[in-house]
Amino acid sequence: MRNPAITVASAIWLLGAGAAAAQTAVAQAGGQRVVIAAGTVLDGKGGKLRDVNIVVEGSKIVAVERRTASASGTSAAATSGTARGAAATGGAAEYDLSGLTVLPGWIDAHAHITWLFGKDGKNAGMTGTTQEDAYQAASNAWVTLMAGFTTIQSVGAVNDLPLREAIAKGKIPGPRILTAVEPLVGKGEATGTPEEIRAFVRKQKEAGADVIKIFASQSIRQGGGMTLSQEQLNAACDEAKKLGLRAVVHAYKDAVRAATLAGCTQIEHGTLATDDDLKLMAERGTYLDPQCGLVIENYLQYKERYVGTPGYTEEGFAAMEKILPMNHDLVRRAMKTAGLKVVFGTDAVAGAHGRNAEEFIDRVRDCGVEPMAAMVSANALGAEAMGLGKEIGTIAPGMQADIIALDGDPLQDITAVRRVVFVMKGGVVYKNVARGAVPEYAGVKP
Ligand SMILES: [Zn+2]
Repeated sequence: MRNPAITVASAIWLLGAGAAAAQTAVAQAGGQRVVIAAGTVLDGKGGKLRDVNIVVEGSKIVAVERRTASASGTSAAATSGTARGAAATGGAAEYDLSGLTVLPGWIDAHAHITWLFGKDGKNAGMTGTTQEDAYQAASNAWVTLMAGFTTIQSVGAVNDLPLREAIAKGKIPGPRILTAVEPLVGKGEATGTPEEIRAFVRKQKEAGADVIKIFASQSIRQGGGMTLSQEQLNAACDEAKKLGLRAVVHAYKDAVRAATLAGCTQIEHGTLATDDDLKLMAERGTYLDPQCGLVIENYLQYKERYVGTPGYTEEGFAAMEKILPMNHDLVRRAMKTAGLKVVFGTDAVAGAHGRNAEEFIDRVRDCGVEPMAAMVSANALGAEAMGLGKEIGTIAPGMQADIIALDGDPLQDITAVRRVVFVMKGGVVYKNVARGAVPEYAGVKP
């Protein structure tokens, strides 16, 4: 018989029943055994496995076994047309994903999960506190998970904290959230002395930050000039390191080199970095998190909702169209820089949540990234950059059971990333739908 708890979890997608997810999370914590029969597995590190059973107990993968002839009856017994396998006993698969491409849940290194459109439909930023805002943030989390993203790094907002906790406790469905809480926004000398900056970083750690976010450049729409001195950047990145936290730095042009020299973990955006800057990053082991399209495409698509709200002008939008080819150029050069580690981050803002995977398509189509490299950037490499390489991003024994399946092969056709038909996070199945049954935006338009 199929495990009833799993059946309930499978129905969440259809019922939208968050309470069931919570119950299932509890049931799963008891260590039930689930077997997933997979035909093609991308292991997250660039490897490909064929015809394996992925065995999950509780929240973790405990085995990845090659299916032998005697065991292969499991896939033969599976129902066709859906990703759900037939109920069976004696080691038979609970879930038959044999016609799909199975891979680790994706990791988005740069999202703004609480950024939303307000009641009037206009950009309302990420600090809203009404009930509508709270539900919208929960919806952002849900559609992000349904899109196959089981972990995101939010960079950051105070509102991330209750959302992170609610998801971690299984009260509502969503991706695992890491947050920077309040970012350090560079304002030249007004940012503070190095000591004041260190105190700010410590305050974020005390508030529960998983990572420190630093703005070292103006918005590229305003020219992208540096907003922190080398000394200020050194203080911020060094204090983060002392606290055992990573520092990710929003940086364009000259700020890329300065942040790299300051010893930060990762550069966000990186537009107009020179080849020498990229080389320096590779030498220092600094990760690069560039964007190939989604964030700007989304702004242009929802232009009327953004223009006139703080930070968004007609001139800024005119600049964006010029920035897009610069970003494509950056990624092309980055991919050619030996040893440079390029991770996957979308910079998802209001309107982009649940469409994070579009960035994969942009990377492959517009920036010449190999599809496998695009997948790894959001799997093992993305996990490594977050210091979570031993927990997520790979399908292997001992890893968190974050497993997704696509209807199609992204190595042949990158648009398969839009067709996520199965999502398991921490051993709990949140989505398991028939092929062709994936509505746009997981059924929720912004
Ligand atoms: Zn951002």
